[in-house]
Amino acid sequence: MIPIIGHGIKTMSIGFLTREEDALVWRGPILHKVLRQFVKDVNWGHLDWLVVDLPPGTGDVQLSLAQLVKASGALMVTTPQQIAFRDVRRAVTMFSKVNVPILGLVENMSYFICPHCHEKTEIFSGSHPDKREISEGFSIETLARIPIEPSIAQSGEKGVPIVFSEPESETSKKFMELAELLKKKLGE
Ligand SMILES: [Zn+2]
Repeated sequence: MIPIIGHGIKTMSIGFLTREEDALVWRGPILHKVLRQFVKDVNWGHLDWLVVDLPPGTGDVQLSLAQLVKASGALMVTTPQQIAFRDVRRAVTMFSKVNVPILGLVENMSYFICPHCHEKTEIFSGSHPDKREISEGFSIETLARIPIEPSIAQSGEKGVPIVFSEPESETSKKFMELAELLKKKLGE
Protein backbone atom coordinates (compact mmCIF):
# COMPACT_ATOMS: atom_id res chain seq x y z
CA MET A 1 0.00 0.00 0.00
CA ILE A 2 1.18 3.49 -0.82
CA PRO A 3 0.71 6.05 1.94
CA ILE A 4 -1.04 9.34 1.23
CA ILE A 5 1.24 12.35 1.66
CA GLY A 6 -0.08 15.58 3.14
CA HIS A 7 2.06 18.49 4.37
CA GLY A 8 5.16 16.33 4.04
CA ILE A 9 3.75 13.60 6.24
CA LYS A 10 3.00 10.08 5.00
CA THR A 11 -0.25 8.76 6.40
CA MET A 12 -2.26 5.57 6.43
CA SER A 13 -5.61 5.14 8.10
CA ILE A 14 -8.37 2.61 8.40
CA GLY A 15 -10.56 5.53 7.31
CA PHE A 16 -8.90 5.45 3.85
CA LEU A 17 -9.93 1.84 3.38
CA THR A 18 -13.51 1.74 4.58
CA ARG A 19 -16.74 3.37 3.47
CA GLU A 20 -17.95 6.17 5.68
CA GLU A 21 -21.14 4.40 6.66
CA ASP A 22 -19.33 1.24 7.78
CA ALA A 23 -19.03 0.99 11.52
CA LEU A 24 -15.76 -0.41 12.73
CA VAL A 25 -16.39 -3.35 14.99
CA TRP A 26 -13.20 -5.21 14.25
CA ARG A 27 -11.84 -7.16 17.13
CA GLY A 28 -9.02 -9.50 17.97
CA PRO A 29 -7.51 -11.44 15.04
CA ILE A 30 -8.78 -9.14 12.23
CA LEU A 31 -7.58 -6.06 14.00
CA HIS A 32 -4.20 -7.63 14.55
CA LYS A 33 -3.98 -8.50 10.86
CA VAL A 34 -4.85 -4.94 9.79
CA LEU A 35 -2.31 -3.44 12.18
CA ARG A 36 0.29 -5.85 10.87
CA GLN A 37 -0.46 -4.73 7.31
CA PHE A 38 -0.20 -1.09 8.30
CA VAL A 39 3.19 -1.63 9.86
CA LYS A 40 4.70 -4.18 7.42
CA ASP A 41 2.85 -3.83 4.09
CA VAL A 42 2.71 -0.05 3.68
CA ASN A 43 5.52 1.30 1.56
CA TRP A 44 6.72 3.73 4.22
CA GLY A 45 10.20 4.19 2.80
CA HIS A 46 12.47 6.22 5.03
CA LEU A 47 10.77 7.62 8.10
CA ASP A 48 12.09 9.87 10.83
CA TRP A 49 9.32 8.79 13.15
CA LEU A 50 6.32 6.52 12.95
CA VAL A 51 3.46 7.96 14.99
CA VAL A 52 0.53 5.67 15.64
CA ASP A 53 -2.67 7.29 16.81
CA LEU A 54 -4.49 4.70 18.89
CA PRO A 55 -8.10 4.66 19.97
CA PRO A 56 -8.67 5.33 23.66
CA GLY A 57 -8.54 2.52 26.13
CA THR A 58 -6.52 -0.53 26.84
CA GLY A 59 -7.91 -2.99 24.34
CA ASP A 60 -6.81 -5.23 21.50
CA VAL A 61 -5.19 -2.49 19.40
CA GLN A 62 -2.77 -1.44 22.11
CA LEU A 63 -1.74 -5.01 22.89
CA SER A 64 -1.42 -6.01 19.23
CA LEU A 65 0.77 -3.03 18.48
CA ALA A 66 3.01 -3.77 21.43
CA GLN A 67 3.52 -7.26 19.99
CA LEU A 68 4.19 -6.01 16.46
CA VAL A 69 6.70 -3.25 16.99
CA LYS A 70 9.18 -2.23 19.59
CA ALA A 71 7.71 1.16 20.38
CA SER A 72 10.07 3.89 21.55
CA GLY A 73 7.38 5.22 23.80
CA ALA A 74 3.76 5.95 24.47
CA LEU A 75 2.41 9.47 24.78
CA MET A 76 -0.81 9.80 26.73
CA VAL A 77 -3.39 12.31 25.55
CA THR A 78 -6.23 13.28 27.83
CA THR A 79 -8.65 16.05 28.71
CA PRO A 80 -8.43 17.80 32.10
CA GLN A 81 -11.26 16.01 33.90
CA GLN A 82 -10.41 13.65 36.73
CA ILE A 83 -12.48 10.89 35.17
CA ALA A 84 -10.40 11.02 31.98
CA PHE A 85 -7.25 10.62 34.05
CA ARG A 86 -8.51 7.26 35.29
CA ASP A 87 -8.21 5.95 31.73
CA VAL A 88 -4.68 7.35 31.54
CA ARG A 89 -3.82 5.51 34.71
CA ARG A 90 -5.09 2.23 33.21
CA ALA A 91 -3.30 2.79 29.93
CA VAL A 92 -0.01 3.61 31.65
CA THR A 93 -0.25 0.43 33.69
CA MET A 94 -0.97 -1.61 30.56
CA PHE A 95 1.88 -0.11 28.50
CA SER A 96 4.26 -0.62 31.41
CA LYS A 97 3.32 -4.30 31.52
CA VAL A 98 4.25 -4.74 27.85
CA ASN A 99 7.49 -2.77 28.37
CA VAL A 100 6.60 0.35 26.38
CA PRO A 101 8.19 3.40 28.03
CA ILE A 102 5.80 6.19 28.99
CA LEU A 103 6.89 9.52 27.50
CA GLY A 104 4.45 11.74 29.33
CA LEU A 105 1.04 13.33 29.24
CA VAL A 106 -0.58 15.85 26.93
CA GLU A 107 -3.56 17.69 28.28
CA ASN A 108 -5.90 18.50 25.41
CA MET A 109 -8.64 21.16 25.63
CA SER A 110 -6.75 22.42 28.62
CA TYR A 111 -8.22 25.91 28.52
CA PHE A 112 -10.18 28.16 26.17
CA ILE A 113 -8.70 31.24 24.55
CA CYS A 114 -11.33 33.88 23.77
CA PRO A 115 -10.85 35.06 20.18
CA HIS A 116 -12.06 38.56 21.17
CA CYS A 117 -10.08 39.49 24.23
CA HIS A 118 -7.59 36.55 24.28
CA GLU A 119 -8.42 35.82 27.88
CA LYS A 120 -7.80 32.27 29.08
CA THR A 121 -10.66 30.36 30.68
CA GLU A 122 -10.24 26.96 32.28
CA ILE A 123 -13.43 25.20 31.25
CA PHE A 124 -12.88 22.02 33.20
CA SER A 125 -11.74 21.49 36.75
CA GLY A 126 -8.74 23.75 36.49
CA SER A 127 -5.09 23.04 35.98
CA HIS A 128 -3.39 20.02 37.43
CA PRO A 129 0.16 19.76 38.73
CA ASP A 130 2.99 19.09 36.29
CA LYS A 131 3.46 15.65 37.73
CA ARG A 132 0.43 13.47 38.38
CA GLU A 133 0.54 10.26 40.37
CA ILE A 134 -0.24 7.00 38.57
CA SER A 135 0.45 4.71 41.48
CA GLU A 136 2.42 5.09 44.66
CA GLY A 137 5.88 6.36 43.82
CA PHE A 138 5.15 6.47 40.08
CA SER A 139 3.99 9.64 38.41
CA ILE A 140 3.57 10.95 34.88
CA GLU A 141 4.88 14.29 33.65
CA THR A 142 2.62 16.73 31.80
CA LEU A 143 4.58 17.69 28.68
CA ALA A 144 2.07 20.07 27.11
CA ARG A 145 -1.23 21.76 27.68
CA ILE A 146 -3.03 22.32 24.39
CA PRO A 147 -5.66 25.06 24.50
CA ILE A 148 -8.96 24.95 22.69
CA GLU A 149 -9.23 27.80 20.22
CA PRO A 150 -11.91 28.25 17.57
CA SER A 151 -9.12 28.41 14.98
CA ILE A 152 -8.02 24.83 15.74
CA ALA A 153 -11.52 23.59 14.91
CA GLN A 154 -11.60 25.68 11.73
CA SER A 155 -8.22 24.40 10.56
CA GLY A 156 -9.40 20.85 11.21
CA GLU A 157 -12.51 21.39 9.11
CA LYS A 158 -10.40 22.85 6.29
CA GLY A 159 -7.95 19.97 6.49
CA VAL A 160 -5.00 22.25 7.10
CA PRO A 161 -3.06 21.67 10.31
CA ILE A 162 -3.04 24.73 12.53
CA VAL A 163 0.77 24.73 12.59
CA PHE A 164 0.58 25.57 8.87
CA SER A 165 -2.47 27.82 8.78
CA GLU A 166 -1.66 29.83 11.91
CA PRO A 167 1.89 29.13 13.00
CA GLU A 168 1.88 32.12 15.34
CA SER A 169 -1.15 30.97 17.35
CA GLU A 170 -0.71 29.79 20.92
CA THR A 171 -1.90 26.31 19.95
CA SER A 172 0.72 26.03 17.19
CA LYS A 173 3.45 27.14 19.55
CA LYS A 174 2.38 24.52 22.09
CA PHE A 175 2.44 21.80 19.43
CA MET A 176 5.91 22.82 18.26
CA GLU A 177 7.23 22.93 21.82
CA LEU A 178 5.82 19.48 22.44
CA ALA A 179 7.45 18.14 19.26
CA GLU A 180 10.84 19.54 20.31
CA LEU A 181 10.45 18.08 23.78
CA LEU A 182 9.62 14.64 22.40
CA LYS A 183 12.51 14.79 19.96
CA LYS A 184 14.86 15.43 22.86
CA LYS A 185 13.33 12.73 25.02
CA LEU A 186 13.46 10.12 22.26
CA GLY A 187 16.91 11.20 21.19
CA GLU A 188 18.13 10.38 24.64
ZN1 LIG B 1 -13.39 37.57 25.58
